[in-house]
Amino acid sequence: MLNKTELQILVLDDEPFMRKLLSRMLANLGYTGVSACDSGQAALHLLDLADHRPDLILLDINMPQMDGVEFVRHLVEHHYAGALILVSGEDERMLQSVENLVVAHQITVLGHLTKPVAPDLLAALVDRCLTPLPNTASAHKKVYAKDELQAAIAHGELVNFYQPKVSIATGLVTGAETLVRWQHPTDGLVFPDQFISTAEHHGLIDALTRAVLAGALPLVRQWRDAGLSWKLAVNLSMDNLLSLEFLDVVVDLVVSMGVRPQNLVFEVTESRLMQDPRIALEILTRLRLKRFRLSIDDFGTGHSSLSQLRDIPFDELKIDQSFVHRAWANDTQRAMFDASLGLARQLNMETVAEGVEDFADWNFLRQQKCDVAQGYFIARPMPASSLPAWLADWEIRRGQL
Ligand code: C2E
Ligand code: MG
Ligand code: MG
Repeated sequence: MLNKTELQILVLDDEPFMRKLLSRMLANLGYTGVSACDSGQAALHLLDLADHRPDLILLDINMPQMDGVEFVRHLVEHHYAGALILVSGEDERMLQSVENLVVAHQITVLGHLTKPVAPDLLAALVDRCLTPLPNTASAHKKVYAKDELQAAIAHGELVNFYQPKVSIATGLVTGAETLVRWQHPTDGLVFPDQFISTAEHHGLIDALTRAVLAGALPLVRQWRDAGLSWKLAVNLSMDNLLSLEFLDVVVDLVVSMGVRPQNLVFEVTESRLMQDPRIALEILTRLRLKRFRLSIDDFGTGHSSLSQLRDIPFDELKIDQSFVHRAWANDTQRAMFDASLGLARQLNMETVAEGVEDFADWNFLRQQKCDVAQGYFIARPMPASSLPAWLADWEIRRGQL
């Protein structure tokens, strides 16, 4: 971890006054390693000098020759591994879209500042550089090889976590979502974004899904035996829907466990274009005919969410967390949220909001009359063994909401 005197900060702004102001503010905050450049070219030149690699760049996005967006593209080419703070006089929406673009380039953005820059906001953002950021795009992500993942599936190293879903009107539990993790012998708990696409690329996703489902079914059975009608959701990859055999595997597993299809939900996300949509359509339609529930996951972020809604008989629509958390504070997000909710209602689908992180989010959803909530505010994903203790605690909390 770096301290304030070790952190190398670069201020990139074409206006001499802003360079001076920001440098002085940083110095006042105790940061001593601050340099400044007046153009993208000069900054890239500096970046190539091994001893002057900044850990953080304060980037003005409006510059006359090379603008901030172009500069970010060059940063990627120059293998920049540090973080960025965007600074601009543009409106919030513009800053947000530049921020999204930077994130898409897998560069860590600590946030954005509008001019005139408030010293306390600057301090709060720069301070984030001093603590390691978990789960950021630039955090070192190991790529796992096919063999390693294959062995892990075979040896039972994949474990299911469960995240509860609750009714917003009553606070009662409606079910949970199964989220897979890899209990890696040396790397600790590995999250799905680090191995799902590997599984998809190497033809291991059917084996993975089968393992997840086999691990999840006993829980559904347990709920049923306890007289609970909770539903358990399992994520499907589009690659699970490439061959009809998968359908038989699922149905056989479910039947052999004595679980009712009504208590299982399959969440489907479309992160890339389907090659042959006909097979996927057939599998999903037949699952639905067998009374499994279908849910469209991450709604609004995939390739063709609307045409999927038209073609596939979904029961549930999950509004993506990027439209939920803080939707009450952001007009654009809120418009997306409202549109998704309206669409789901018109199509008679149950609505689930993902990414409900705090009471303000919860309250907003309650006002909007969204059906179900899922997110850190209610519970983090947890092993099945932690569910009873969580439930006892939630019973108390929900009475206070
Ligand atoms: P998803 O299906 O959209 O799952 C929701 C993700 O959001 C989970 O991440 C969950 O931990 C996270 N999350 C829950 N509440 C909050 C919140 O309040 N705030 C924020 N910021 N995040 C929240 P996770 O577990 O890392 O999973 C990521 C994705 O990996 C899942 O997104 C899903 O698409 C995929 N995945 C997980 N398990 C499986 C699986 O068994 N099979 C397949 N094919 N994909 C899976
Ligand atoms: Mg999901
Ligand atoms: Mg989702």
